[in-house]
Amino acid sequence: MAVLLMEAVMKAYNGTPAIQDLSLTVDSGEIVGLLGPNGAGKTTCVRLLTGVIHPDAGKLKVLGLDPQTDGDELRQQCGVLTESAGLYPHMSGQDNLLFFGQLYGVRDRQRCDELLDQFGLKEAKDRNVGTYSTGMKKRLGIARALLHRPRLLFLDEPTNGLDPEGARDLLTYIRRLNEDEDVTVVLCTHLLRQVESLCHRYIFLHRGQLLEEGTLPTLEAKYLQDIKLALETDISEAALREAGFTLLAPLQRRPVLRIGDRSQIPEVLRSITQLGSVYSAEILERDLETLYFKVRGDRA
Ligand code: ATP
Repeated sequence: MAVLLMEAVMKAYNGTPAIQDLSLTVDSGEIVGLLGPNGAGKTTCVRLLTGVIHPDAGKLKVLGLDPQTDGDELRQQCGVLTESAGLYPHMSGQDNLLFFGQLYGVRDRQRCDELLDQFGLKEAKDRNVGTYSTGMKKRLGIARALLHRPRLLFLDEPTNGLDPEGARDLLTYIRRLNEDEDVTVVLCTHLLRQVESLCHRYIFLHRGQLLEEGTLPTLEAKYLQDIKLALETDISEAALREAGFTLLAPLQRRPVLRIGDRSQIPEVLRSITQLGSVYSAEILERDLETLYFKVRGDRA
């Protein structure tokens, strides 16, 4: 069931198009990565979907509500982490949460404490947010977005400014929220490696338009025609060549075969194992980043 849809949406700033004829949906329970380079329109999408700005044309529906007319109600039901996080620097971390809690109708002090604890801010809860590091502010921003236990969470560049450990902890937490509490997540980022193992599906934006969308396997099937297979084997390169295989430059001493497409892999492995022992076979360059550049093609 779709919790969010955009249909033929257009949005321009001062006559310059930022979103052009964009249609997409997100289903309940998904973690969707909204990916694209700077200026692709990711933040504009989140602002449209949360009713902060309105489209020039097209239809939007989020949690059954129209962000244009039901913005307040919608923002009560979803959590949003924007890049600036929107926290008050002269208030302590705890007071920020209590203040925003009141706005969301959450008068549960325990919920604030629980989130401060969860995001490693218990010790610093009485300090003014202005003295927090970037990572601490980011974590508090996420705690704020989660105060009212939203069913839908928009995260705009959530790991920006976090160190590798902080980023990993946050991504683990997002996965847990999704798995244990069935929170649907829309995550904007250009850090493809970080979200590769997190998102169920990806939407690639380019200059405000949808370039491609799909799960990793569907994108692979469509864009990964020329497969490079690295083998850990005791069979020599010469023997492989003799058997008719096309070899590329070896990788870490492993011979690399070029194969037309994925469907040929089982047959290739069957015939190679006739020649000797194969300890492992790895498809190379199947990561999200490689796929992203294949999808983008020549687009600058
Ligand atoms: P980034 O990764 O840099 O945050 P993004 O994908 O989130 O980029 P947007 O911030 O949505 O992209 O910007 C899309 C386009 O709209 C860009 O060309 C940007 O310059 C323009 N834009 C965004 N906000 C405004 C604004 N308030 N006024 C004018 N132009 C804007």
